[in-house]
Amino acid sequence: MSAYSKELEVAQLAVQRASLLTKKVFHEKAKGTVSKDDASPVTIGDFGAQALIIQAIKKNFPDDQVVGEEEASTLRNDIKLRDQIWAFVKDTTLTDADAERIVGGPIETIDAMLGAIDAGNSAGGNKGRIWALDPIDGTKGFLRGGQYAVCLALMVDGDVKVGVLGCPNLPVDDAAPLTAQSGVDQTDAEGKGVLFSAVSGQGATSRPLGTAGLGKSKPIQMKPVEDITQATFCESVEAGHSSHGDQHAIVTKLGVTKPSVRMDSQAKYGSIARGAGDIYLRLPVSATYQEKIWDHAAGDLIVREAGGEVTDTLGRRLDFSKGRTLQENKGVVAAPKAVHGNVLEVVKEVLAKK
Ligand code: AMP
Ligand code: MG
Repeated sequence: MSAYSKELEVAQLAVQRASLLTKKVFHEKAKGTVSKDDASPVTIGDFGAQALIIQAIKKNFPDDQVVGEEEASTLRNDIKLRDQIWAFVKDTTLTDADAERIVGGPIETIDAMLGAIDAGNSAGGNKGRIWALDPIDGTKGFLRGGQYAVCLALMVDGDVKVGVLGCPNLPVDDAAPLTAQSGVDQTDAEGKGVLFSAVSGQGATSRPLGTAGLGKSKPIQMKPVEDITQATFCESVEAGHSSHGDQHAIVTKLGVTKPSVRMDSQAKYGSIARGAGDIYLRLPVSATYQEKIWDHAAGDLIVREAGGEVTDTLGRRLDFSKGRTLQENKGVVAAPKAVHGNVLEVVKEVLAKK
């Protein structure tokens, strides 16, 4: 058996199951009119997906720690919210009995659900086995029916070993190129829903996001960029998350002619890893913001295993060993290995002029 095969299987099935929950929440809560006293669909989806994923991790690897975005303390006093989340959690199962057993079967009680959410409280660091979890990355995209991702990565002694991204609104087809439409409402379209995975040293794959066991996987690779002026570059939708101005200056200087593709979440990492896009830039808007490890761990590994290089704006590898944030890094520059140096040079030039 190859290294981390059990971890990979559990992570993929856990992300697949949690993605089902987020889709249900979207259809029942986000899409329709949310009644006034209902919790936000993001809150329900975030807590619900976190509960299902941590349960799967703890059933299989009880000693592992989890750095999760959410914590349950407020939830214990908010019975109404708790019950709304429970209504989704108790009914979300994989339709394949073996697969459901691997992720620990249904959560049995509300208390067990709260306990699972609470277990995402690790401080992170450079010792031992720690999972980084973002139950719904790209919350704005989730609400608008655009791109979002269920993100899970295993770090061992601060190094990312396994990464999984569930992207319910990306096309299954790895060859479908990114367009300006890729980041807008994609929900319910035919052929949507993809699960990206990577294990350190073993490459990256994609497969359709299903409802039962795991579908058949295909290896993915970044596309060789022969002419950088023809490259497709992606960035956040939210101007508050990365500097659209700096990114525009960088790609203009590189001679890129295509308009940027804006999409929420780590779907950007998955999209460049399979060659649907080429470059992902995330230039800081604030000097003090520290990127969160759960926003990057899975995507960083998937892109590197697909033949890419991921650094910050100073050319340093992303360092996941410093706690819950990437405190030793500034921004993200992700591109195929062959052109990363070129892109980074221009990033530095543009930042130096500021
Ligand atoms: P994206 O969908 O790529 O725009 O990234 C979404 C993530 O951005 C969220 O999960 C937040 O954790 C993160 N975020 C929030 N504020 C900032 C900020 N000021 N700079 C960078 N990322 C941020
Ligand atoms: Mg996030």
